[in-house]
Formats: sequence, C-alpha cells, structure tokens
Amino acid sequence: PSVLRPVAIETPTVTWDAIGGLETIKYILQESVEGALLYPELYRQMKAISPRGILLWGPPGTGKTLLAKAVASQARANFVAVTGAELHSRWVGASEQAVRDLFTRARQAAPCVIFIDEIDTLFPMRGGTSESDSGVSARVVGQLLTEIDGVQSCDNVMIIAATNRPDMIDPALLRAGRLDLQLKVDLPDVTSRLEILRVHNRDRPLAADVNLVAWAVRTEGWNGAELALLCNQATLQAIRRYRMQGLTNPTGMCIIAADFEIAYQFLLER
Ligand code: ATP
Repeated sequence: PSVLRPVAIETPTVTWDAIGGLETIKYILQESVEGALLYPELYRQMKAISPRGILLWGPPGTGKTLLAKAVASQARANFVAVTGAELHSRWVGASEQAVRDLFTRARQAAPCVIFIDEIDTLFPMRGGTSESDSGVSARVVGQLLTEIDGVQSCDNVMIIAATNRPDMIDPALLRAGRLDLQLKVDLPDVTSRLEILRVHNRDRPLAADVNLVAWAVRTEGWNGAELALLCNQATLQAIRRYRMQGLTNPTGMCIIAADFEIAYQFLLER
C-alpha cells in the first residue's frame, strides 16, 4: 500500500457552458481530447494520434481546473486529481510508488483524466537550492516520464497538468508524446469577463438594475475566481439585507445593484 493518501476518483459534472470565455481553448479540447476519449475505436482504426498529455498554463484562478473537469465530464470519463507537491514524500521510494499508484488507479478507472495541479511544485529545487529535496524531485520526475511514456492510446488515459510557472517545468516533460499540447489560459478580457459574470448569475435572481456589462468593464485585471467571488459576495449581501428586515423566505428576493456595490467595496478593501 502507498504511504501517501490514496487518490480519490471523481466524476465531475462541469459543462462547457459553465466556463466563460476561453473559446479557442474549449474548442481545441473538445476537438482533440474529448473525441479521443469518447471514440477510441474511431481514432485507433483511423490511426489518428491524439495528444496524451496537455499543459494548461497561465495566471491563477483563470479556469484551468474547470477546463480539466469539463474534459472529463463531457467525455464521460473519470477524474483523478493530485498536486505536484502531493507526489512528494521524504520516504525513499514512496514518491515513485505514489506516481505508479496514480497511473494504476487511472488505468483501472479508464476512460480517465489524470489532473496534476501545480505541477511546478514537483520541481522545488529549480526555484533555488532546497536541502530537503535530496533527489526526490529527480526520481519522481523520472517515474512520471516512465508512466507517461507507458500510457498506450488504448488505455484511454489522458494527462492534464496545470501551472502558473511554466518556466519551472522540466523540459523533458514537454517533449513530443508527453505534455505536448500546451495551451495558455489567460486572464479574461472584457467580453470574457461579461460571460463569466453571466455564467455565475445564470441561476441567481438578479434585479433589473444590475448592469453586468458595467461590472465587466469595472473589473479590468480580475480573474474568473475573483469574478465568481464578487457574484457570491453580492448574493450574501442581498441575504444580509433581507435578514436585517427580518425576511427569510426567498420567494421574490433578488440581488440589487447596491448589493454588488457593497460586495465590490468589500473585495477591494480585503
Ligand atoms: P489555480 O491556478 O489557482 O489552481 P485555476 O486556473 O485552476 O486556478 P479554477 O480552479 O478553474 O482556476 O477556478 C477557480 C474558480 O473560479 C472556479 O471554480 C470558478 O468558480 C471560477 N472561474 C475561474 N475561471 C472561470 C471561467 N473562465 N468561467 C467561469 N468561472 C470561472
């Protein structure tokens, strides 16, 4: 048995339309990955080679985890998630075992997406000299390369890694046949911010005075996670406002422009 926490197998339910913006990336993922997971026989017969591994890179909170989950859920595949740091163990051999276990679990759960978040944390010594590392990184990367190279197209296993620090990644991982599809997930522009705001308010009762276009303009430089937080804070503020009037029945309640304004100030002052 592994000395590390066993990886949990999830079945995510993230639809493509729950992700605002990122149209090109969504298209590429749908085309190249989902198809291969959904129709392995078609790809095999046609001798098509689809990417085995993908690197999603870019600033935090931009939807990398959401994209990986959308691939899995839309391809009706299982999903196992780990972080680079979780694969580290100071016990000799345990890190390699953890990587082996991860891939074994994924093969058993095929079709399956392996998501390695913060893959840069596999390489702590690249940021400086780390005394405690003592070769763990080199061994764990070696094992990871072996496992990725060992994935056959018939295994129906796809590896998606995410990072904010692509410069920290061992180039050997990015070579052909490994994480060879590299997609930049950028901060949303004004149009994408509007879409993200719409996604997060789709099922919420918004008053007519809430102008999401204006909010998209005002949130220049914000990421998707911050936009999601704004919408939730506004919702919490609306509830607070009603409760102050002693109201707790949600029927007819709505989120008004003033709630967004208070939420925005709250987030700015945080
Ligand atoms: P990190 O690099 O910090 O792990 P990430 O890029 O993986 O971040 P996610 O975990 O996918 O980001 O996003 C965090 C949350 O922010 C999501 O659960 C979602 O609520 C919101 N979010 C981020 N990007 C988007 C987007 N493009 N559309 C809708 N929601 C988004």
